Amino acid sequence: MSAPLLQVEQLGKRYRLPREHLFAAAPEVQALDDVSFTLQAGRSLGIVGESGSGKSTLARLVMALEPPSSGRVVLDGLDLHALPREQLRQARSKLQMVFQDPYGSLDPRRSVGQTVAEPLAVLFGASRAEQRERVGEALDAVGLRASDMAKYPHEFSGGQRQRIAIARALITRPQLIVADEPVSALDVSVQAQVLNLMQDLQDRYGVTYLFISHDLAVVDLVCDEVIVLWQGRIVEQGPPERLFTAPEHPYTRRLLAAVPGGPGMPQNVPSPHPRSL
Ligand code: ADP
Ligand code: MG
Repeated sequence: MSAPLLQVEQLGKRYRLPREHLFAAAPEVQALDDVSFTLQAGRSLGIVGESGSGKSTLARLVMALEPPSSGRVVLDGLDLHALPREQLRQARSKLQMVFQDPYGSLDPRRSVGQTVAEPLAVLFGASRAEQRERVGEALDAVGLRASDMAKYPHEFSGGQRQRIAIARALITRPQLIVADEPVSALDVSVQAQVLNLMQDLQDRYGVTYLFISHDLAVVDLVCDEVIVLWQGRIVEQGPPERLFTAPEHPYTRRLLAAVPGGPGMPQNVPSPHPRSL
């Protein structure tokens, strides 16, 4: 097997919280604890876990938006958090992110064309003609029209806005797309369309997804492999069909209980809460 596109090695992140009073020690939260996994190019890895389990923290560390407290993120052989600034900027062109909120993540004052072209202009200084062409292609790839370029985000539905966000993520032809709860803000009927689109884009362009969701059913649709996070740690990993039929960890069973048609709620499972150090 070839070298993985993404290697996450013993990643840890602690956050310092505000002191309760002047002489108190600052409490800390271990948001991620000893997380390791690999992701092969062209595959999709799901990260599931309840709110507060560390999913978004993992996304930010993989995107090199903030430094880890320990461990490494290696993308295509590059130790991201050890790179000098300029090299990190170049490495970032291989990474794009799709966020949860299709309303908040698009600037209402910028046209769709400007929004989708932005990563291109920032990363490569592409000419206007080239930008227009690439934007047209990206909009077409996500099932919108090139003429939508001139419109503004408020003219689109939630699902369409998420398509715009995906077009924006695709435009640099990234090797890895980190999607943090990309369909959680959408109506259930629209969720399936956006998930199908993401699947289709993977088949067509071979993109690799790190796909984050609190919803096991969503991850099941898109991912080949799933990691279950609980209190910042990996408690279970496997193909989604195995997690669905034979979950090993009580917390995975609890997540399944939240899936419509899933098994009932098991007893005696501790409630997840952030651990203080
Ligand atoms: P999830 O995305 O799974 O809901 P997060 O990664 O957002 O989880 O949060 C994991 C834990 O880290 C939570 O306890 C959260 O309160 C804490 N946390 C996340 N970001 C910060 C931050 N910037 N400062 C302090 N604590 C944080
Ligand atoms: Mg989150």
